[in-house]
Amino acid sequence: RKGNVVVTGASSGLGLATAKALAESGKWNVIMACRDFLKAEKAAKSAGMPKENYTIMHLDLASLDSVRQFVDTFKRSGMPLDVLVCNAAVYQPTASEPSYTANGFEMSVGVNHLGHFLLARELLDNLNASDYPSRRLIIVGSITGNTNTLAGNVPPKANLGDLRGLAAGLNGTSSSTMIDGGRFDGAKAYKDSKVCNMLMMQEFHRRYHEDFGITFASLYPGCIATTGLFREHIPLFRALFPPFQKYITKGYVSEEDAGRRLAQVVSDPSLTKSGVYWSWNKNSASFENQLSEEASDLEKARKVWELSEKLVGLA
Ligand code: NDP
Repeated sequence: RKGNVVVTGASSGLGLATAKALAESGKWNVIMACRDFLKAEKAAKSAGMPKENYTIMHLDLASLDSVRQFVDTFKRSGMPLDVLVCNAAVYQPTASEPSYTANGFEMSVGVNHLGHFLLARELLDNLNASDYPSRRLIIVGSITGNTNTLAGNVPPKANLGDLRGLAAGLNGTSSSTMIDGGRFDGAKAYKDSKVCNMLMMQEFHRRYHEDFGITFASLYPGCIATTGLFREHIPLFRALFPPFQKYITKGYVSEEDAGRRLAQVVSDPSLTKSGVYWSWNKNSASFENQLSEEASDLEKARKVWELSEKLVGLA
């Protein structure tokens, strides 16, 4: 049978390119989990995705109710779940004030980390129940959360501190819009959320890989300088960023190639190792990359897991 893969945020950028690559392979039914149904439908059509190989389901990660509703709809569909890809993200580098999810969490961490955390936890049983040869949970990471890299050292750097803001609920009261309890900074909030993504992948691996046999993985697909992720940046930045990445840092990757990389992590029979953060070298060969000290701090991973459980109502 075809594999069933859920891809969050499949209405643009990396998610759409991945959905397209998987749908075109003919081996996958892609469930595009998107907050804007019409946008997703239009995107799939204009990308020329074969319509027998995708389904669109509504998911707004900025609302825990919507996450639960998505899980419920998916379970009632009776489809097995073979691979879950947590890809969607918001990035608000120029926001001077925080915005909040329906549950009152600062938006970047609320969507990128907490929404996905609840989704992945609620769908874990479905992944476990699937009879597919290789079941996978993939959480898209980023170099920007990795302070052991050049890109990860551009200020403001990711830093979760002692997690006091997360413990206080990330809700803007008692200086808790940021995980470390510091002042709101949209670019840092995004990077912090990506550190959480990479930590959660490892914590899932530690807790469930041995018993469930599921592959847990993260990746940095390269700098896809053309995606909507930079839509909130100033125009000059948006104009200069793609050529800068192409010619100066040489980290640039097209949406299509990045989509092929993520599709590879979904379906390549040789990429079954769990607990791994994949990257690609200049010849586009995948390799296991090192995470920064904070993004591989297992004690921090356990704490983020426990605090996040409380915030999303799992504990
Ligand atoms: P895009 O902005 O193009 O795509 C983000 C997707 O997330 C969109 O489909 C968007 O939906 C969706 N989304 C945003 N908020 C929500 C929400 N509340 N509920 C559901 N979906 C939501 O960015 P990219 O494709 O670049 O980003 C995809 C992933 O790649 C992210 O995890 C990002 O961190 C990662 N990444 C990107 C890099 C890059 O250089 N671009 C580099 C490294 C990692 P909508 O279409 O409705 O806006």
